[in-house]
Amino acid sequence: MISYKKNDLGCTYTFDRTIFKVWSPNASGIRVQLYKTGSDSEPNAQKLESYALTYDKNTGVWSVTVYGDLKNLYYTYLVTVNGVTRETQDVYSKAVGVNGQRSMVCDLQETNPKGWNADKHVFVEHSTDAVIWEVHVGDFSGSPSSGVSPENRGKYLAFTERKTTINNQGDIPTCVDYLVNLGITHVHLNPVYDFDSVDEAHPESGEYNWGYDPANYNVPEGSYSSNPFDGNVRIREFKSMVKALHDAGIGVIMDVVYNHTSSTDSCFNRTVPDYYYRKYDGRYLNSSGCGNVFASEKDMARNYILNSVLYWAEEYHIDGFRFDLMGCIDTTTMNLIRLALDEIDPRFLIYGEPWTANLGENGISFEDATVKENAFKLSSRVAMFNDSFRNALKGNTDDASIGYIQGNNHNIYYVISGILACSSDTFLKWAKKPTQCVTYNSAHDNLTLWDKILKSQNITDYDTHDENIIAMNKLSAALVYTSQGIPFILAGEEMARTKHGDHNSYKSPLSINAIDWERVRSYKNLVEYYKGLIEIRKHYTPLREPTTVTVSNTYFETDGHCIAYTIPNITHGEWDMMAILFNNSHNVAKITLKSHTTLPHSWVIITTGDKSGLEELRRIDGNDINIPPMSTLILIDDKSFDRLKDSK
Ligand code: CA
Repeated sequence: MISYKKNDLGCTYTFDRTIFKVWSPNASGIRVQLYKTGSDSEPNAQKLESYALTYDKNTGVWSVTVYGDLKNLYYTYLVTVNGVTRETQDVYSKAVGVNGQRSMVCDLQETNPKGWNADKHVFVEHSTDAVIWEVHVGDFSGSPSSGVSPENRGKYLAFTERKTTINNQGDIPTCVDYLVNLGITHVHLNPVYDFDSVDEAHPESGEYNWGYDPANYNVPEGSYSSNPFDGNVRIREFKSMVKALHDAGIGVIMDVVYNHTSSTDSCFNRTVPDYYYRKYDGRYLNSSGCGNVFASEKDMARNYILNSVLYWAEEYHIDGFRFDLMGCIDTTTMNLIRLALDEIDPRFLIYGEPWTANLGENGISFEDATVKENAFKLSSRVAMFNDSFRNALKGNTDDASIGYIQGNNHNIYYVISGILACSSDTFLKWAKKPTQCVTYNSAHDNLTLWDKILKSQNITDYDTHDENIIAMNKLSAALVYTSQGIPFILAGEEMARTKHGDHNSYKSPLSINAIDWERVRSYKNLVEYYKGLIEIRKHYTPLREPTTVTVSNTYFETDGHCIAYTIPNITHGEWDMMAILFNNSHNVAKITLKSHTTLPHSWVIITTGDKSGLEELRRIDGNDINIPPMSTLILIDDKSFDRLKDSK
């Protein structure tokens, strides 16, 4: 089928005319139908004129120019293929009415919040400098404990509220102020494009969904806006959210789900039947596990994804993208996305899930799928979640099995491999460089880290302060933040977030999903521990090394259950040597530190099982180190520690 390369599909608005363009080589006729509102159930609903589009056989594109000011009118296309006419919203919609059924002619300039033109991307120099916190818009502020005003709870605008405190009591910060204090660099938002599952017209029903069921890829979801009926509002409020996070110094990453659409009865199939999906023997393939898989390898599907990513980056100032089931997408497309973003700025983050729900149903060859085995074909700045590290740390995601932090040493080499971001030839390598590896131990899928640890210990009190459980959680945190790669956590992991054992809460109510900000108070010591680790990571460049320099300089020592390593540093103005030691047993362990360079005679401890940060906790002499039970030690060579302290 003939392809079209230009990026002017959809409607292009100007004051005196609007141009409509659709790619659909198989159609025998297309009309654009104008409406007063986004649905028939609204006051003033009215069907207006319709206009025939003209076909250009050289491009496969249908188009019409309609004169007059069409701003804020809604429209659909009536597409006739093989004698069947179907009505659809625009595949290229940039604005839609309620529930995304009709597109809207939008003057995007008018959706910009105050100060938007001065808003800038928030980037880190290397992806390994990022500290990512994954959150769902509803979860962020859906609980009254967030202290966010009732009208903004669960909405984009919650991110614009500052000085919020737990239950509005005025003492402990929540939401954006809390994040600034915690020290994360990026918020990763679960789907915020327009998805199908939540009825935007009836918010009172309290429907909840993660949103992995895309309807309109280039439009914000309406249920997070204050008014889903007016197509301008969700756009303006989404931009306000981005700006507020940027103003707080925090970058914004979007979870994008280009691997499938909500159903095959989509705008794509209504516009160009059967083109955008992978089929075999007349049957839709299903590597997504969601009923269909988007054919990223086809010209116009690939163009669509590319242009969509660029649109979010440029129109909405999005700073990074997380690709859902990236294994469904071909490596060529992922590399092209990297190149296209690089033309704007090489610092956009790109990472994704290097797997599918069912590889046998993928419809492209294994060699072309964006899975770990093909990492070598990808840019070293297309990163992948390291699930083997995750599982080695805590055991399988949803059952009672145990991992390293609970005392299981069987997969210790996966732990060491993960500390090195799977970039070391010596330990189970698949990544080219640490920039290709997302180092994590919790995400929105599966049990929260807290719930998983509890399950593995057969504890059902989700509000427990059991010391052993907290020690396991801290071991995990220390392993994630001192490892190579891009550290990532589920929002609230640092406050012992619980979903009360719900391992797949994608449509569970807010009472399960919303962050309970009271836990910042009740698990203060754990939150402070995470904060201290993030500070340490920011203060020791080798931990964030984008190349394999640290990987090669790190000297490992293990006795089968303890892991200890030393990392030298030549960065001017920083400590010279760090030693990191983990003991996952219930006894004191002794281990002798080694290094490729000279070791110091004594060390300053900055992290123990209780506390972490940049301050001296105590000192020890020599390199035979006793590690207390169930704990981490982070040590700094005393000479550089004192030197830097004196120079302050
Ligand atoms: Ca929606």
